[in-house]
Amino acid sequence: MTTPSRGPDLTPASAVPPGGVSSACAGCGAILPEADGPTHRYLESSAACWSTYGEVLAREYGDPGLFRRVHRLTVDVYAVQHPGRPSAQAIQSVAVHLMSLCALLEGGSGAEGASKLIREGVRVKRRFVWLQPPQSMGPLTVADVGKARGPAEHERAVRDWASSAWHAWAPHHATVRQWCSDVRRA
Ligand SMILES: [Zn+2]
Repeated sequence: MTTPSRGPDLTPASAVPPGGVSSACAGCGAILPEADGPTHRYLESSAACWSTYGEVLAREYGDPGLFRRVHRLTVDVYAVQHPGRPSAQAIQSVAVHLMSLCALLEGGSGAEGASKLIREGVRVKRRFVWLQPPQSMGPLTVADVGKARGPAEHERAVRDWASSAWHAWAPHHATVRQWCSDVRRA
């Protein structure tokens, strides 16, 4: 979706939807009302998407049980849906967060095992290459988690979001699985 023009000749004020103008996040594609604000240095996103992520994280920090159950997933999914451009940092970020997702979703790892894999991945980062991000990051985004009411809904939303994002990266699953086993052996 393109950003509607705000030019008075093209877009009368009455045509602007309630809540203002929305636009799609360049990373995950979430359609959110445009907002001013900070974004991450290499996880490229819209300011509104980054702000929604901040709200989701705040909920997890405020609920130790929820934090334990889904925080690792939340951080990994947000990173892989916002791969940015192929800098050394972005290559490493996409690689280790995809590996963590793989361990959590396919390998039955808990958060600690996945975090250990990330630490080991960072140590041997030179072996990673840029993975061309998929055209679509899947139908679910952090905005869907943002809409959840209560911890149970939040947890379910994160799990659905994680499966959907992992599925979107399917063309690279074999590479990510290989990296996981390489890093575990290194
Ligand atoms: Zn986004």
